Amino acid sequence: MRILITNDDGIFAPGLWTLVKELKNIAQVVVVAPDREQSATGTAVTLRQPLRVQRVRPLVAEIETYSVEGTPADSVILALGKLVKSKVDLVVSGINQGPNLGDDVLISGTVGAALQGYLRGFPAFAISVAAVDSVYLDNAARLAVLLAKKIDSNSLPTNILLNVNLPNLSLVKIKGAKITRLASGSYTNTVEERFDGKREYYWVVRQKIDTDTDEKTDIWAIEQGNISITPLHTNLLNKSSPSIPDSLCSDLLQELQKT
Ligand code: MN
Repeated sequence: MRILITNDDGIFAPGLWTLVKELKNIAQVVVVAPDREQSATGTAVTLRQPLRVQRVRPLVAEIETYSVEGTPADSVILALGKLVKSKVDLVVSGINQGPNLGDDVLISGTVGAALQGYLRGFPAFAISVAAVDSVYLDNAARLAVLLAKKIDSNSLPTNILLNVNLPNLSLVKIKGAKITRLASGSYTNTVEERFDGKREYYWVVRQKIDTDTDEKTDIWAIEQGNISITPLHTNLLNKSSPSIPDSLCSDLLQELQKT
């Protein structure tokens, strides 16, 4: 199995390399990621500037690693179109440090990168830990391994785009895993007025607003201490697509606890 890994926190973000360390045990891994923090760039693609790419020294030995002067979506387009010559079986974006829930998937660079994989016909998932100062990156990396194995063994449909979020909790405190839908609501829609000593300016701040957080939503699942797995193809892009079986979740946490 060959896995393309990218992110939006930048090529040296700890979440990305935690993911690489685990996924390299089950697959050949190639990293193509933005050269700097690109959070909240969504699906943006660079059309009016050259895309420069550098082969860089990986933080995990012997991983083919490219740094892209561009967005997360650029990175995946470049990787799948040019840089990775061999067949790719899966695109994984993350591990993002911070939640990607509800309407915020539309501005998430993590999800935007996974989307480019999906649109090109590759199974893809975005994976995030729901705290900006995420501590429990290892849980997410091991969950990514489980999901990758399920995709590789065809126990999940291959035409999928999953948005996976984990609560920032130790494994024993995670309650379960839920297949969810996106909540209608955003954490990123509040603007503050600030003053820099000379002039006023505005700053977009992350603050939770009221959402439709019924028990089917991703935000509900995370707030209750669950892993949230949202199949985006069914409720964002509305393509005819297979559903994800509930049985995925019934044993996922048990499997994770065994790893
Ligand atoms: Mn990010």
